[in-house]
Amino acid sequence: MNWDDEADYLVVGSGAAGATAGLDLARAGADVLILEEGGWHRQADFRPDLYSALSRLWRDFGGQVAAGRSAFPVAQGCCVGGSTVVNGAAMNRMPEEVWHEWTNADPGLSDALPWHALEDAAASIETELQVGANLADSMPSLPMTRALERLGYPHRAMARSAPGCQHANRCLTGCPSGGKWSMERSLIPSALELGARLTPDRRVERILFEGDRAVGVLATRRDGARRGRRPTPCRLRARRGVVLAAGVVHSPLVLRRSGLRNPHLGRHFQCHVGTALMADFGEPVAAIQGPSLGYEVFPEPDLKCNSLPPTPPEIALGNVPAVGRELVGLLRRFDHLAVWNNSQRSRAEGRIAGPWLGLPQIRMTPTPHDFERIRAAVFHVTRLLFEAGARTVYPGLHGVPRRLDEAAAADVIRSAPLDPRAYALNVSHLFGTCRMASDPGRGAVRPDFRSHEREGLFVVDASVFPSAIGTNPQLAVMSLARHAAARIPTCS
Ligand SMILES: Cc1cc2nc3c(=O)[nH]c(=O)nc-3n(C[C@H](O)[C@H](O)[C@H](O)COP(=O)(O)OP(=O)(O)OC[C@H]3O[C@@H](n4cnc5c(N)ncnc54)[C@H](O)[C@@H]3O)c2cc1C
Repeated sequence: MNWDDEADYLVVGSGAAGATAGLDLARAGADVLILEEGGWHRQADFRPDLYSALSRLWRDFGGQVAAGRSAFPVAQGCCVGGSTVVNGAAMNRMPEEVWHEWTNADPGLSDALPWHALEDAAASIETELQVGANLADSMPSLPMTRALERLGYPHRAMARSAPGCQHANRCLTGCPSGGKWSMERSLIPSALELGARLTPDRRVERILFEGDRAVGVLATRRDGARRGRRPTPCRLRARRGVVLAAGVVHSPLVLRRSGLRNPHLGRHFQCHVGTALMADFGEPVAAIQGPSLGYEVFPEPDLKCNSLPPTPPEIALGNVPAVGRELVGLLRRFDHLAVWNNSQRSRAEGRIAGPWLGLPQIRMTPTPHDFERIRAAVFHVTRLLFEAGARTVYPGLHGVPRRLDEAAAADVIRSAPLDPRAYALNVSHLFGTCRMASDPGRGAVRPDFRSHEREGLFVVDASVFPSAIGTNPQLAVMSLARHAAARIPTCS
């Protein structure tokens, strides 16, 4: 076979997992080539308007959806740095109780994923990315703290990997100050300094095998596609192995296109489901200044809500059932508004089917229990917003009044319908689809991150998680990827 390029390890995807594994393999002395479907955009390229971000940084122009009894957007990044370029940089460690759930369900995982190793990996990443809470005095969450204390809701400032945050509130469109240490500005440059190479605009179509062993990939160059040129194929050789980190939606598709047939591929898709709600405080509340995530609040066990002030108006107002003059009025006084989000660990499992017309089909309907949790979260956040002085709350649920003007009215939320179509869900934390399991009858990837079906093929991203984890996943994803990279052999 003629090869266009070669490396010890080809890493597919440059997001949280791919950047971590690529860096660590380079640190261990391997010759690493990282292949990324999206383009390479840097600080100076990031513009405030949503259109630029959707067209250059987001997967499918932000139009990726999950469909079941209702449809909802599933956000991911598609650029060098992956979803970390457009995320809020909140960094929480993997909850120990989730690790117990995993290892109780599959005892083979406890040796392969020792808790102390995941904790060590998390600690080292926290140091590398200077993770800490960086609240500004102007943070809109701060007036909230008084309301939180009065209501007795447990809360904490969120830790973030944004040591130089200038509170520009542009996390979703790419950090203009470079203060957020997303992968393209942190681990990727570190890997390149150590000699790793990165090729953007390369979509891996399939993995190539000799016998049972992964020996390379067939990729297509996408850089000409924007100028109307057809993608051109290239063959890249992996001397030692292929490390797949294409994310929860695309990793199983790459494996299926490559001929793998484990029945769990694409199954067990899980996510955190939630909705956003908006409050009008009738006076400026600095909700367009401050880092994107300030506080997280746990009004009931397993119920997670957080402030979400930086959302661009195009996204924030998309969830408010206002039109015409009312919508224009809200836009005019956008600085009077605060947006809160809630994000619950779903019990439902979905799957990745297709692709159909070139696009993956994500199938999922959250369970009635999932909607009960979301409804409870909307109730608590509505109470909180009124307690903090909101004059009007837009709960964003069909079946209850579209605007509430007093705290007493919040009770109506408790009886909101549990019909999936009543909820404008947002989803950006994804898990599963190449589940890790000791038994190939229960999952697609071995506990040491090798494929159950082929040699020289490792999967290291959030797709290997046996379940959703109930907290912001980036740090857990990176911790598992770091642990995986330490187990991938780098010398012959
Ligand atoms: C809007 C948003 C906000 C979020 N906020 C937070 C937060 O504040 N805190 C937190 O912890 N988590 C947050 N997350 C989630 C977090 O970013 C992800 O959990 C994490 O990035 C997942 O890492 P990953 O490596 O599995 O996938 P990704 O980071 O998505 O990276 C996968 C990469 O693979 C590339 N790829 C896919 N297919 C191919 C192919 N065939 N060939 C080559 N490349 C390919 C993609 O283009 C992408 O760059 C957020 C996510 C989003 C979208």
